[in-house]
Amino acid sequence: MQERSSLYIVSTPIGNLDDITVRAINILKSADLIAAEDTRHSAKLMQHYDIDTPLVAYHDHSSASQTERILEKMRAGATVALISDAGTPLISDPGYRLVSIARSEGHHVIPVPGACAAIAALSAAGLPSDAFSFRGFPPAKSGQRQSWLTSLAENTETLVFYESPHRIEDSLRDMQVAFGSTRQAVLARELTKTFETFLSGTLEQLITQVEEDANQRKGEMVILVSGMEASSLSEDVSAEAMKIMGILLSELPVKKAASLCAQITGEKKNRLYQWALTQK
Ligand code: SAM
Repeated sequence: MQERSSLYIVSTPIGNLDDITVRAINILKSADLIAAEDTRHSAKLMQHYDIDTPLVAYHDHSSASQTERILEKMRAGATVALISDAGTPLISDPGYRLVSIARSEGHHVIPVPGACAAIAALSAAGLPSDAFSFRGFPPAKSGQRQSWLTSLAENTETLVFYESPHRIEDSLRDMQVAFGSTRQAVLARELTKTFETFLSGTLEQLITQVEEDANQRKGEMVILVSGMEASSLSEDVSAEAMKIMGILLSELPVKKAASLCAQITGEKKNRLYQWALTQK
């Protein structure tokens, strides 16, 4: 008979090996199996904490049979812990397929929270953190990246991106074009490690610092960009559109109201949508 087992989603350090919880260590020690993004990479963490639980490789594009083997063990009652190379699994990391199948089969899926580069960066960047949007890695190709960034230009919440060192300059330049030179931004690099650095300023200032100092292009990095000022949204929404939105919003959800108002006035749907969010 199929058993309901447990799949623990365990966060591991993003640099400093001390950034792991006591609960995470206990679960990794007591699990029957650890599914890891890269077993060789995780072997170091296992050694450091004296964990001898067997490791198996798991990737979202692992073959169906590999995923099936992990699920088979769970159906037989095994407790599995999922880890990625660093930080929280599923946050720009593998795990989604395993979690969704495990849930659909009725297993317990239990988060064991801990380090996450996006949250660590946001917590110390000094940009508004009451509302933020985590967007992961921007597209690698320049054309796609530019249109993707342009579609985010009118968001009013802080935007959080991951980026790799060899694309940092291109990405920052594309952000300058999409969001404007004066948007406030932060580059959070090598978090929890020896060369942890926070660079703050306008996008233009960040680009200059990254261009002038090769060290700022090294290591792991999170880019945070403040959202569009709500006041600049109002400047761009006509009085007529505001009046129509006011009427529609009393009857309709924000998305529908923005869509209808855009059809009536010819103004941009996303801008009306973002404006409406600032009116709440
Ligand atoms: N799951 C991880 C998490 O919870 O943060 C993210 C994995 S993603 C594949 C790796 C990216 O996260 C890096 O390219 C970088 O953008 C960011 N990152 C990871 N560790 C970092 C660190 N110590 N400092 C700054 N950024 C980091």
